[in-house]
Parts: sequence; C-alpha cells; structure tokens
Amino acid sequence: MGKRYVTIPQSKAYCFCPHRYYLSFVKKRTTCTPIKELLSEMTEIAYAELLGMERKYLSDTTGASSIETAYSLLADAAIAHAISMKSRLLEDIDFEGIVSHIYCALQPELITMMKRSMETMEKRGVKGSELALLCTHDPALIDIRMVDHRNKISGTVPKVCMCRDRAFPLLTTTSLVTNDGPDYYEYMAMEMAALLTASWAKKPVTMAALYSLPAHFTYYHEISDFATQSVKSFVSCINETKTYPALKMRCGICPFRNICEYNADCY
Ligand code: SF4
Repeated sequence: MGKRYVTIPQSKAYCFCPHRYYLSFVKKRTTCTPIKELLSEMTEIAYAELLGMERKYLSDTTGASSIETAYSLLADAAIAHAISMKSRLLEDIDFEGIVSHIYCALQPELITMMKRSMETMEKRGVKGSELALLCTHDPALIDIRMVDHRNKISGTVPKVCMCRDRAFPLLTTTSLVTNDGPDYYEYMAMEMAALLTASWAKKPVTMAALYSLPAHFTYYHEISDFATQSVKSFVSCINETKTYPALKMRCGICPFRNICEYNADCY
C-alpha cells in the first residue's frame, strides 16, 4: 500500500481495533454508525460551532436580556449545523430526541459562557462587539483544518490556544476521562493534534488538552520529543501494515460486528 495521510478519526479507529480501521478506511465498507457514536460526533461538532460563532451572536447584544436570547439562538444554530453535517446518516431518526440530547450535553458550557458575558457586561459596562471581543475566542483559531506534510498527518483541530511563544491544541470528547487519564486512542489523537498544530502555527507546542464535555473538565498532556517520535512511528506503522489483527474485546459496540469476518469469535 502506498504512503498516505492519516487523519485523527482514522488513528482513533486504528487504536480501537486495527481490523475496524481496515474495514472502514481501506476496504471502505459502509455501515450504519451506531446512534451513540453519531450523537457524540454531533455534540462535538455543535461544541466547535458554539465556540466559532459565539463572537458573531454576542456582537448584537444590547443588554442582559439580549444576552440570553443570543445564547439561545447560538445553541439552535450550533445544533442545526451539527445535524446538517450528519443528515445523510439520520434517516428515520427522532430529530426532537437528537436536539434535546445535544442541547443537554452543551448546557453546562452554555451556562458558563452566558455567566461570563453577563459578568463582563456588568463589570466593564460594555456591550455589542466590544463585549464580544472581550468574552469570546478568536474564530480564526476554531475548527482549523491542518495538514502536516512532513509527517503525513491531516485533521481538524477544534480549538487552538495561541500564546506569544507557543500554541496548544484542544480536542473535545463526550466520554468521561477516568482517573487514569484518557484512553490510548484519545492520547494518540492529542499527540497527533499537537504535531499538526506545530506545523500549522509554526510555533513549538508544549502541551495538548482534551476537554471532556460531560464532566466539564480539561485534561492536559505534556508533549515531549518522545511523544513526537511515537506519533511518527504510529503513522508509519498504519501506512506500512499489511495485515490488520482484530481486537476482540471491543466487538460488542463495533458497527462492523455483523459483517466482520472475526465476528464468530466476538461474543
Ligand atoms: S467486529 Fe470486532 S474484530 Fe471486527 S472490526 Fe469490529 S471490533 Fe474489530
């Protein structure tokens, strides 16, 4: 197989089960993504949209009551965007259920955003675009598509935090980060995002972060030379692998479990 670019979702699929990666990205077998996975993906898309569009919606505010309206409109727009991105996979689906699921998942974040804007309006006596500039993230640093040509990695990073001398990427997840830290595949995604961000921002990346939506919690991971080397060898390992062994313990929640040739051993 020729050398190709590896994306963050591909790396996660490979860590989850190499055979799943093979079926999905090499054989390109389409399957019905389980609704739980779809909801997670849509929540993460809606969250990136919340961050990216907050400045625009907050710019129209004139007072405390219009802040509430702005966040309610922002939430609607973010959820509609997430649904439209996945609409081709959503036949015969209960849209109201999806909307309320994503809305509940985003609720803590929306309350924090709204509180911060109200407090800033009160303390600084600013509104409209002045308020928006003080309280929101730069949309240019949200949801950025990046390609690292040197290391054959591509992907979208939901948010980049840019400091004077360094940058760090933030990924989001709808799974709870345990006391032992993120799963192996979340780790690999964080390290890949750090490498991507370094090549895009042309600054050193010293840290990557994983933001857990349900827990409202951020896990930070130091990026060392060792991490950089491990991503490079991981990417070349995916590119050079010819056989894809299965990880049987994951099969219960795999979308391929009905068509995978390892399926007989799965249960
Ligand atoms: S059914 Fe099991 S072995 Fe097959 S791709 Fe899914 S997780 Fe891997």
